[in-house]
Amino acid sequence: MSLIVQKFGGTSVADVEKIRAAARKAIRAQRQGHRVVMVVSAMGKNTDTLLDLASQVGDNPPAREMDMLLSTGEQVSVALVAMAIHELGAKATSLTGGQIGMKTDNSYSKARIQSISTERIERLLDQGNIVVAAGFQGIDDDLNITTLGRGGSDTTAVALAAVLGADACEIYTDVDGVYTTDPRKLPEARRVEVISYDEMLELASLGAGVMHSRSIEFAKKFGVPIHVRSSFSDTEGTMIVAEAESTTQPVSGAAMTADEARVTVLGVPDVPGKSLQIFSAIAARKIAVDMVVQNVGKDGRADISFTVPRGELKSTLQALDQVIAAVGAEGVTHDDQVSKVSVVGLNMATQTNVASRMFRALSDAGVNIQMITTSEIKISTLVPKDQAANALRAVHEAFQLHHRPDDAKSWKQIKADRGATDVETLVNRLRADALEALTLTGITLTKDQARVTLHGVPDRPGIAADVFEMIGEAKIFVDMIVQGYDGEDGSTSVSLTVEKKDLKRAMEVAESIRAKHGLRDIQGADNIAKVTVSGIGLRSHTHVATLLFDRLATDQINVEMINTSELQVNAVIDAAKAVEATEGLRKTFAESLR
Ligand code: ASP
Ligand code: MG
Repeated sequence: MSLIVQKFGGTSVADVEKIRAAARKAIRAQRQGHRVVMVVSAMGKNTDTLLDLASQVGDNPPAREMDMLLSTGEQVSVALVAMAIHELGAKATSLTGGQIGMKTDNSYSKARIQSISTERIERLLDQGNIVVAAGFQGIDDDLNITTLGRGGSDTTAVALAAVLGADACEIYTDVDGVYTTDPRKLPEARRVEVISYDEMLELASLGAGVMHSRSIEFAKKFGVPIHVRSSFSDTEGTMIVAEAESTTQPVSGAAMTADEARVTVLGVPDVPGKSLQIFSAIAARKIAVDMVVQNVGKDGRADISFTVPRGELKSTLQALDQVIAAVGAEGVTHDDQVSKVSVVGLNMATQTNVASRMFRALSDAGVNIQMITTSEIKISTLVPKDQAANALRAVHEAFQLHHRPDDAKSWKQIKADRGATDVETLVNRLRADALEALTLTGITLTKDQARVTLHGVPDRPGIAADVFEMIGEAKIFVDMIVQGYDGEDGSTSVSLTVEKKDLKRAMEVAESIRAKHGLRDIQGADNIAKVTVSGIGLRSHTHVATLLFDRLATDQINVEMINTSELQVNAVIDAAKAVEATEGLRKTFAESLR
């Protein structure tokens, strides 16, 4: 008999009528012949109310008591949902996190799932019950109640679906699916039928608040298909699965985060370990750093720029104040009137000209790009805040995101195409007691890379577009791109990596751009290599990047360029040190490699 997990978020159980509606959905599924497990969040804004109560009692509530308090929200709703099901004539049993055997570590308020025992759920299902499980909570080895972090009920649901081998995991919420961009920011946004785990993870880290990131990581590890849909209508929503909607469309979604700040640390001595010092100081304050760009050094010094959410700027500057002298940097500048505009797509990893299309669209809209970073499946640009809405519209239009791609497939077709071949998951390689542990899939070395750097790129629209169009016309595949501040005169520098065999031609293109736009200087280097750490959820396990930098710094290996995504952390280093670096990293991450 098939088993489905149905998760109802806070808005879907906000009042008694909605609780009844949720109960009816579960009963209907049961009558259609499924075994049904519901996972339920706290009613409406109940978790916020509890948080507020705690803050009225005192400023420093013990973490353990906080989790004890917050877990009650879900306990209220599971009991009420079970009662509603009884009232409607079906059988239901509610269970707390402890009662479903949800074992976690003991980091209160952000506990990670270690194992789940399924016997009790199976037994209750065998007896004809709908099982109503409390989301967001678990217990540690000492039976203390823990919570998984805000929004954690999604993770409970996907984890249960994984260990129970559910046929479907339905997430009922107040939106009817995943859109190409936030429809509140851009009405042309289109609901997609299918989106891949990796795209969803990237979009989530850009602020697309549809689902808890950790739940997507979990789904990816175990190959759980997720169906995000509205609790207030019967329309099909969006399937989050391994595959993308189309196999050709380079971009699947766009995102804009309006309130960002750029920070530049000027004149950092270009020796190993300096970035580590800077970013550890910021990480100690739990501030999420994005778009890290290190300009290629001159006179033994480099400028390091990065972005933080605007609300964290003050704290970031304080953190820097304390380390600047120790680092030996020359100063810090910042700009708090900037926004980040990004595009995400699984297929861009294998296509050329995606970046140039984006940059051209921005240039045509009169938008000046201040910084660029790329990863395998994402391109992010930093733009002036007052141009951000325009920028988002231009990019959405350029990639025709409002149109369903011609080769788009429904989930049904994708499943049929899979046939008997299962998607590759990591399930079999995981230990049973490490459900949510960091999972790395490889440490690899890409040799024979080369870098081209353009210095003194004037800070005005259109130049990035020119550069990458011309490189594209020359049929040169560009891997990493970074643009950052050059320091002194407000100009920027753009670095890109290509294969070593293409360096000569790339330099010719660079030279013609230098002549055309009056750039200060171009530089090429062919003695570089790229080391890559790949895995699942590299952003939610924030220590991966830190460990990588730590290892390279310990081995006295200088990092020239870096990029990070949900899937990979990449560092461009001196080719002569590449093998040593790879071996060092294999040792550092031995525990997590599977
Ligand atoms: N009730 C918790 C929260 O509001 C968990 C959840 O809704 O997923 O964060
Ligand atoms: Mg919620």
